[in-house]
Amino acid sequence: MKIGISACLMGYKYRYDGTHRKNEELLDILKGHELIPVCPELCSGFSVPHDPIELKGDRAYLKDGSDVTDKLMKGCDLSLEKIKNCDLVILKTKSPSCGYKKIYDGSFSGKLIDGNGMFARSCLENNIRVFSENDLNSIREYTAQ
Ligand code: SF4
Repeated sequence: MKIGISACLMGYKYRYDGTHRKNEELLDILKGHELIPVCPELCSGFSVPHDPIELKGDRAYLKDGSDVTDKLMKGCDLSLEKIKNCDLVILKTKSPSCGYKKIYDGSFSGKLIDGNGMFARSCLENNIRVFSENDLNSIREYTAQ
C-alpha cells in the first residue's frame, strides 16, 4: 500500500519545538509498504523550531495572536497534493495540522478538545482514510488486507 504519514512519526525533527516523535512500533507495522512523509507546517514555510500554533474553530493562531490560517492552509494544500493517491494516511495526534480526533482548544493552556487539525480535515474532506498513531491495531488490520 501507499501510505501518507506525518514526517515526525518517521523521525524527522520537524515539530514546532525541533523534536520528532518517531514511533518504532508503527514503523514496524508499516514495513513493506511505500511511505510518503508529509509535514504541512514545514510545507507552509514555518521554520523549525517555531512558536506553537493552535486552532480556534477554522482559524489558526500563534500564541501572540497572529492569524496564520492562510499560511497553514497553503501547506495543507501542498501536503494534500503529495498524499492524495495514498490508500491511507497516518497522522500525529494533537497537532493543529495533523491532529486527528483530539486537538488543543486554542487557549494555549494544554487543554484538549475533540476535533481535527487543519490537514486532517482536508484529508477527510477528500475521502482519504485517516488514522492516528494511537490506532495501531486498526492500522495493522487495515494494511493486512
Ligand atoms: S505538522 Fe504534522 S508532520 Fe509536521 S511536525 Fe507537526 S505533526 Fe509532525
